[in-house]
Amino acid sequence: MRTLRLVTTLAVAGLLAGGVAMVATPASAATAVFSVTNNWGNGYQGQISVTNNTSAQITSWRVEFDLPASTSISQSWNAQQATSGSHYTFTNLSWNGTLAAGASTSFGFLVNGSGTPVNCTVNGASCTGGTPPTTPPPTTPPPTTPPPTTPPPTAGTPVERYGQLRVCGTTMCDRSGARVQLRGISSMWLNWETAPYAENLSALTWMRDNWNLQVIRAAMGVEPAGAYLSDPARARTQVETIINNAVTAGVYVIVDWHAHEAQNNQSQAVAFFGDLARRYGHLPNVIWEPWNEPLQFSWTSVIKPYHQAVVSAIRAADPDNIVVLGTPTWSQDVDVAAASPVAGTNLMYTLHFYSCTHGASLRAKGDAAIRAGLALFVTEWGASNADGGLDGRACLPEAQSWIDWMKANGISWTAWKLDVGTDTTNLLSPGAPVTGGWTNYLHGHAPFVVANMR
Ligand code: MG
Repeated sequence: MRTLRLVTTLAVAGLLAGGVAMVATPASAATAVFSVTNNWGNGYQGQISVTNNTSAQITSWRVEFDLPASTSISQSWNAQQATSGSHYTFTNLSWNGTLAAGASTSFGFLVNGSGTPVNCTVNGASCTGGTPPTTPPPTTPPPTTPPPTTPPPTAGTPVERYGQLRVCGTTMCDRSGARVQLRGISSMWLNWETAPYAENLSALTWMRDNWNLQVIRAAMGVEPAGAYLSDPARARTQVETIINNAVTAGVYVIVDWHAHEAQNNQSQAVAFFGDLARRYGHLPNVIWEPWNEPLQFSWTSVIKPYHQAVVSAIRAADPDNIVVLGTPTWSQDVDVAAASPVAGTNLMYTLHFYSCTHGASLRAKGDAAIRAGLALFVTEWGASNADGGLDGRACLPEAQSWIDWMKANGISWTAWKLDVGTDTTNLLSPGAPVTGGWTNYLHGHAPFVVANMR
C-alpha cells in the first residue's frame, strides 16, 4: 500500500475510501495514520500505521478510536483488539511493540459498514501527535453508494485487457509483455458442490463486477465416487459450462484435474486434456492444470513423467496456453520441481498454502524455486488449517504475509473455495443464491479473500 503524507488537520471521519490522513507532528510524539486499503461499498479493509516520531525507542503502543454505531470491526490482525461498545483499543503484540526512533509498524482490520475512525489517540495523545481535538470531528459516514459494476481503472473484461497470457521469466505477462497478477477463486470439488455455484454465468459475472474476480478455477474431482472417472459425462459438462461462461464473461478459467494420485489414470488425463486442448486451446481464457495435488511421490520418476505426457498432449493442439504443474507433497515442494523442471514453454508450477499450517518455511521453498527460475501460480490457498478449516479458525496475519509475498513476486492466485459450509474456506453462508449477489452471504475467510481481490 502506498501511504500519502498530507500536511493537513486531522479529519479522519471525513476520509473517503482509499484516502489517507497525516498531519504535521511535533518532534516528540507517536502518530497513527489511518488508511483504507480495500473498499467494497458496505465494508472495507483498514490499516493504521503507528510511527515513533520521538528521538528515543518506545517499547509499546496503544491506539484507541471510535466508530459510528452503524459500523463495526469484524476481524483484525497484528494487534490485540479490545472492544467496548463502539470504542476500539488496539495494543501491540509481543513482536511489534518496540519501535526505534523513526520506525513504523502497522495493524489491519476488516470493517462492516462505511464509517471511519474518529477520536483517534495513540498512547493517550492525539493520533496527529498533538493534543486531542476539542471538537469531535463529524461522524457522518462517507456515501454508501455501491461500487461501480465494472472495474473502473481500465476498460473491458480481464481477457479484453490482458489477452493471451504467457510466462515471462518467473511471472506471467499479458499480450503486450506487462506483468499480470491474476486473482480469483476456485470452485469446490465439482462432484461435491452443494449447489452449482461455479457453473452459473450470472454468479461469475457478479464476482467479476463486485469482487474484481479475474480467474475462476474449475476443480474437477477425478478419483472419488461420482467424480470424473465414474461419471465423466457429468464432470465434462460441468467443466465445459464453466469454460463457456468464462468466455462469455471475459475471465480466465483454470481447468483443474483435481486429483491426488493422477499417475494411476494418466491415459484418461492425456485423453481429457488432449481433447479439451483441441476444442478450447485457441481461446486466450484457458489455463491448464493437469494435477492438483500430487501426494508425496517422486518428482523425477512419477510426477514429472506424468506432466511430460499431459503437456505433450496439450501442446499437440495448443502451442501456447499456460500449463500449471502440480508439485510433490500436496503442491508444496516447488523447490524439488525447480531442480528438474519440465521442458517446454509457458509452464508454471503450483504452490498451495493454508496459513494456519504454512508460513515462512514454505515461502522459503517458493523463494528457492523462483531463484531457480520457476514461475509459480497459487491455485489454492486458505486462511485456515491445511484441512480447509474444519475447526472454523482463520489465521489472517499469516495470510496477510502470504498475500504480500504473492503480490511482491507477481504470483497469481485462486482462493479455495466457492461453496456453502462450515469450513473456514467455504466462501458462502447458507441461503446464498446460485446466481450471485453474495454481499450478505460471505463466510469464513471470504471477507479477507474478497478484500484482497479488489
Ligand atoms: Mg492457445
